[in-house]
Amino acid sequence: MNISVLGTGYVGLVTGVCLSEIGHDVTCIDIDQDKINKMSVGISPIFEPGLNELMLTNINKGRLHFTADHHQGLADKDIIYIAVETPQKEDGSADLRFIVRAAKDIVCHIKKDVIVVIKSTVPVGTNKFIKELILDNLTKDIKVDIISNPEFLREGSAINDTFYGDRIVIGSENESAASILEEVYKPFRVPVFKTDIYSAEMIKYASNAFLAAKISFINEMAHICDKVGANIDDVAKGMGQDKRIGPDFLSAGIGYGGSCFPKDTQALVKMAEDIQYKPIITKAAIEVNECQQTLLVEKAKKYFGNLLGKRLALLGLTYKPNTDDVRGSPAIPISKQLLKESAEIIAYDPAGIGKARTILPSRIQYAGSLDEALLNADLAFLLTEWNEVTGSLLRKACQLMKEPIIFDGRNCFSLDEVRKLNIEYHSIGRPPVL
Ligand code: NAD
Repeated sequence: MNISVLGTGYVGLVTGVCLSEIGHDVTCIDIDQDKINKMSVGISPIFEPGLNELMLTNINKGRLHFTADHHQGLADKDIIYIAVETPQKEDGSADLRFIVRAAKDIVCHIKKDVIVVIKSTVPVGTNKFIKELILDNLTKDIKVDIISNPEFLREGSAINDTFYGDRIVIGSENESAASILEEVYKPFRVPVFKTDIYSAEMIKYASNAFLAAKISFINEMAHICDKVGANIDDVAKGMGQDKRIGPDFLSAGIGYGGSCFPKDTQALVKMAEDIQYKPIITKAAIEVNECQQTLLVEKAKKYFGNLLGKRLALLGLTYKPNTDDVRGSPAIPISKQLLKESAEIIAYDPAGIGKARTILPSRIQYAGSLDEALLNADLAFLLTEWNEVTGSLLRKACQLMKEPIIFDGRNCFSLDEVRKLNIEYHSIGRPPVL
């Protein structure tokens, strides 16, 4: 198939590269010329394990192309994916400006019948609205089908998720267009679930809200564990052995973040409120998450009295390991709270420093290594469970910090492991090791 992908971010680039890997001819289009220049020579503008290698292979095989020229990228394609951003607006709703712009690009440049596939996360009704927008503005006699195909990949394991995902959702009002897309994906051998467009759009929001609620639920239990002296890790393990509950997404910590859960839960709330429904569970999940992000600072304040002038090693800026994405990362509100408490922050992250610098206050200092961050620190905050950090943190904390005092926002270490060392250790929903 002759495919193009509009928007080469975390979703669009991975989608384009993986579709080329299974044999399709793919052109990735972006408005950011710098990104296009890098990608054209095989350099991924995002940190995603395995992506660079796969990009280079397919560029060299001649089936993966990059352009900032929409005409060149769109004119004669069989399928056009839209994978542009849908950020949160001030009122919580999804900002559809980029989607609308992409639709207008399609109107201007297509020359033949095409299937438009919307991968971006969009409120229910958006696919139909975009189809009407395209058809109303087309002056040529061209057939356009629209398919809602929400994306479920996770940053950090995006390629694996594309090849071995749990399901591909195809929402369409045209069975033959849906079958063409199913055929496109066949080499992935991922189960396909076909439904109507509204349900496909809703599946994405419902899935993210459910996962957010699961995280907030275990975090609420962690709060109670903290107060009653239980251990949330054991509680989660005991719960997860029940097949109706399952062991995944039961890790207590400083809350969810990223570019999806926070904005998608807010957009779902807005969508529900627009139809005069109060989405009680989703709202509660958001509220618990906001509280969760203040927890570590509160614990540290309680322990030290105040954090004035304390040298604090902030370990992890990305919202999870194996990505450079800092959008919606708990590290952002936590750093701001710490600065308010007049702590001196030395931050380290294996991949996120470049992007963090652009959004975090300039008073934060950045370390080039874990050792540099820990050297002479009064306390360490572990915010992202990078293997590079967790693999040596306990040993290095003992060697490099003034006193090894760790506040672990991800419960990375077993209490037994920590007890063997001379470390003061505070985590989430578990008794401290003093
Ligand atoms: P992103 O911000 O990383 O990338 C979007 C890209 O689109 C940018 O490079 C931007 O320059 C480009 N763009 C914008 N308008 C364009 C246009 N008219 N033509 C060409 N390029 C254009 O976004 P992302 O994280 O990849 O997310 C994309 C969508 O997928 C969002 O709706 C998001 O909610 C959803 N999603 C994201 C993830 C994730 O893990 N990031 C997972 C599932 C779904």
